Amino acid sequence: MHDLIIIGGGLAGLALAANAARTGADVVLLDARDRLGGRVLAHQTAAGRYDLGPAWIWPGMQPRLRALVAEAGLTTYPQHEAGGLMFEDASGTIQLFARGFGQEPPSLRLIGGISALIDFLSAGLTPDQIRLSTHVERLSLAADHVRVRTESSEFTARYVALAMPPRLAAALTYDPALPPALHAALQSVPTWMAGQAKALAIYRSSFWRDAGLSGSAMSQIGPLGEIHDASLPGADEAALFGFFAWSPAQRTARQETLADAVCAQLGRLFGPSAAQPEALVIRDWATDPWTATSLDQAPLREHPSYRPIDWPRPWGDRVLLAGSEATADFGGYLEGALAATASIIEKISINREFSLF
Ligand SMILES: Cc1cc2nc3c(=O)[nH]c(=O)nc-3n(C[C@H](O)[C@H](O)[C@H](O)COP(=O)(O)OP(=O)(O)OC[C@H]3O[C@@H](n4cnc5c(N)ncnc54)[C@H](O)[C@@H]3O)c2cc1C
Repeated sequence: MHDLIIIGGGLAGLALAANAARTGADVVLLDARDRLGGRVLAHQTAAGRYDLGPAWIWPGMQPRLRALVAEAGLTTYPQHEAGGLMFEDASGTIQLFARGFGQEPPSLRLIGGISALIDFLSAGLTPDQIRLSTHVERLSLAADHVRVRTESSEFTARYVALAMPPRLAAALTYDPALPPALHAALQSVPTWMAGQAKALAIYRSSFWRDAGLSGSAMSQIGPLGEIHDASLPGADEAALFGFFAWSPAQRTARQETLADAVCAQLGRLFGPSAAQPEALVIRDWATDPWTATSLDQAPLREHPSYRPIDWPRPWGDRVLLAGSEATADFGGYLEGALAATASIIEKISINREFSLF
């Protein structure tokens, strides 16, 4: 029997696993995907890694992330914003604004991408502490342990941490069944950015900077709604990325022509060279069953306000919700993933039976 099973190998699950492993606890982390990182994902080229999931951090106001970046010895750099911003209105008219988004506080990126945090945390675990391609289906509660079942295997532990979005936690089968109110509460929590998709366009050079443009744009017609420069410092190539304004349903309906529509829009905004990237990568998170559910297909208009969800006894004695959407402290963001982890560490350490941390 393990001390702790962590289900989910995104930033939250990995941070918790790395912390638990450091104390010598018998911990195992299970993830349905064939890779670690969850919503953290990169597109790799010879020049480096481009973030297809989260890219921005704000360490000035995110103390846990600041500490993790420092511990991992990683370097940040500011999102490139210098130069004009292009704006495409609902009629398709394009205007140039002299100043860019002016994000405040400025968004910072990581050299090596956000995946560098995943690499750092996973390096603290042994191969037998990580089980990939392991889709958990069922949790059964006993007096002093929890049984975790996949299609072909079974694990037991004294504690289980669900390091995943609440809606995916609601999709598991529980024996005994969860109280209906808890199940409904889990389903009601939107997964941040689960309905989003990112397009990444890679070019030989940042010709938009040479033309006095920042690479930033906003559009009211899409397919992309918000575009930014994604170039890697010192690389001999350059890149733009954009979030889609088109909903998951619109993207699916136009799947065959989506890449052409993105290139055409980049061409309208930044000139003919932009319409012909060396490579175009589209990552649609809304079609990924390990991030999004059918409930996440409705576009979110604003950042939801997250808060911890109380798991009543007896489940609450042994099962803990640990993903980013389980905290009010930067819930939905990378910092939230670390904050949710910290609250688990706190809960477990006050339990005398299990003084792991
Ligand atoms: C496009 C995009 C842009 C974003 N931009 C930013 C940003 O700039 N800054 C920021 O701070 N945040 C951003 N975010 C949010 C950020 O990615 C998340 O807050 C963070 O990655 C959540 O980490 P997590 O570990 O809580 O969850 P996840 O990363 O979702 O990890 C959950 C894990 O659980 C696994 N899992 C689920 N169900 C099961 C099961 N039944 N069995 C086994 N494994 C299972 C999944 O495979 C997954 O690996 C963005 C997200 C997206 C998608």
